[in-house]
Amino acid sequence: MTQKTIFKRIIDGEIPADIVYQDDLCLAFRDINPQAPTHILVIPRKEITSVNDLADEDQTLVGHLYLVIRHLAEEHQLVSSGYRVVVNTGADGGQTVDHLHFHLLGGRSMQWPPG
Ligand code: AMP
Repeated sequence: MTQKTIFKRIIDGEIPADIVYQDDLCLAFRDINPQAPTHILVIPRKEITSVNDLADEDQTLVGHLYLVIRHLAEEHQLVSSGYRVVVNTGADGGQTVDHLHFHLLGGRSMQWPPG
């Protein structure tokens, strides 16, 4: 059996996280190593490794995750200043945890192109 990812362990309540939002489909918690004043990870409860592993049936779920991100951006006063949503995918994308996650970054000006 493959080992649980750190995010699955957070979903299962095995390790603590600073959870800022949760519902039936997803969980949002503060990144342990924040790269901006606001750095929240939004993850589906369903175990999906990355964007590469999304199935047609996940269409509604992904839409839901984006609506949660919009809600969190409003709640954390990021709407007027702006923010960035990042989904690192695979080795070149910089993905380090094999459970789909959306980074919500805000509270400072972002650069482009990303490093
Ligand atoms: P990525 O590099 O896109 O896969 O992002 C994984 C993110 O998870 C990184 O920004 C880490 O800082 C963050 N992270 C890893 N472990 C934890 C944890 N236990 N609680 C919160 N964030 C974590």
